[in-house]
Amino acid sequence: MVQQIKSPDNEKNKLKIPYFSILGVLVVVILVTILWRPLNLDRTVYVPLNSQAQTTVTDTSTSSVVIGDGRIDMVGDKSKSENVTESSDVPEDAIAKDELDDISEEKDNTVQYTIARGDTLHDILFRYNVNKNDILQLTSKFKQLANLRIGQQVSWTTDDNHNLLTFNWTISSNNVRIFEKSGNKFIESSETIEGTSENVVITGDLKTSFVADARKAGLTSNEIGIITRALQWRLDFRRLKVGDKFAVYLSREMHGKRLSNSKLLGVRIKNGTKDYYAILADDGKYYDINASSLSQSFFRYPLAKQARVSSGFNPRRVNPVTGIVTAHNGVDFAVSRGTPVLSVGNGEVVIAKYSGSAGNYVAIRHGRQYMTAYMHLDKILVKPGQQVKQGDKIGLSGNTGRSTGPHLHFELHINNKPVNPLTASLPINEGLTGKSKKAFIEKVKNIKPKLSF
Ligand SMILES: [Zn+2]
Repeated sequence: MVQQIKSPDNEKNKLKIPYFSILGVLVVVILVTILWRPLNLDRTVYVPLNSQAQTTVTDTSTSSVVIGDGRIDMVGDKSKSENVTESSDVPEDAIAKDELDDISEEKDNTVQYTIARGDTLHDILFRYNVNKNDILQLTSKFKQLANLRIGQQVSWTTDDNHNLLTFNWTISSNNVRIFEKSGNKFIESSETIEGTSENVVITGDLKTSFVADARKAGLTSNEIGIITRALQWRLDFRRLKVGDKFAVYLSREMHGKRLSNSKLLGVRIKNGTKDYYAILADDGKYYDINASSLSQSFFRYPLAKQARVSSGFNPRRVNPVTGIVTAHNGVDFAVSRGTPVLSVGNGEVVIAKYSGSAGNYVAIRHGRQYMTAYMHLDKILVKPGQQVKQGDKIGLSGNTGRSTGPHLHFELHINNKPVNPLTASLPINEGLTGKSKKAFIEKVKNIKPKLSF
């Protein structure tokens, strides 16, 4: 068709010029589309099809890896062809834990949870570090567990190695399903002793720390954990001072003398002159008294522009240099040196320093359950203890530490466990509207007076 346009002019061709011009334009458009696609791929984030897939290095000298079924060249453009992902991302500085972290790691290892909209049992247990095989066994054997309802209580106990020992599902006060590990499998039983539920209000003053004073007031570790998670985006519990106050409204499910479940209906914390509330809505989530979300949203990527993933999250990656299988606890983005690195959410900088093979390393804590890490930076632009907002520039990407090419290594940890940042379910910041907001405001009118000191 292109040739026809270029053919010598004659009367017929002259008449056909507009027609061929249109065809010519079409050809150009088609060619551009075809050529554009592969170019565009370099600006696209590849989500690994299977994050569990073994990553093997086919040839370290040409700097390419195989992820899942697809071969990914480390860098598309020739000028940076010697780029390879880093050999190690292990920082020398671990993130310090505090008293609030210890709460979720008490010796009984029991977690209580209220089912919220959008939850699946698999996601919940995964978020809390429960052994994957146990999750799979439980959810595949007992299909009824797909019928969890919003607002229902579940609780589970693990051993020190995160193996699931028991899982309890409270369907109603006199119908509790218990799934207990026996040998290698789970067996189901039910507890039909009539449970009694009682609503209690527990108040206290801050004398030493929230955890210690809440315990003294009669709250269990589980209940303290639920409270700190509900308000994690609004309040840093470590900053509470002597003289601050708390009031907690709970529904406690008793089976005989045993406290089987607690549901936090509402909490108020008075910090100085400011009041912080978390009230349970019908969707199983907590909102402030104006029906605004207590959650905080995250960016999926710590970059202003999307970048190619040169190495995906892989708990069993073969180290490109040593050949030893080590976890790749994050995602590598192929970005040139000096690319701005952004905090994916509001938070507090907990680490900002040069740290061994991680190079210039920044770690940010977001609320109680989330932590992000950014490694091999050329330059660090924040200081430990600094509060950052979502989108703040925290550093420039680079090639520091044990890294053999410029790239950004990015990690997301939920409940102190690294997860795939490209696929992890992230909290969304969505307030209530319409009918559900109206119903919630009515609820607040009932609960708020109970939360007086
Ligand atoms: Zn990496």
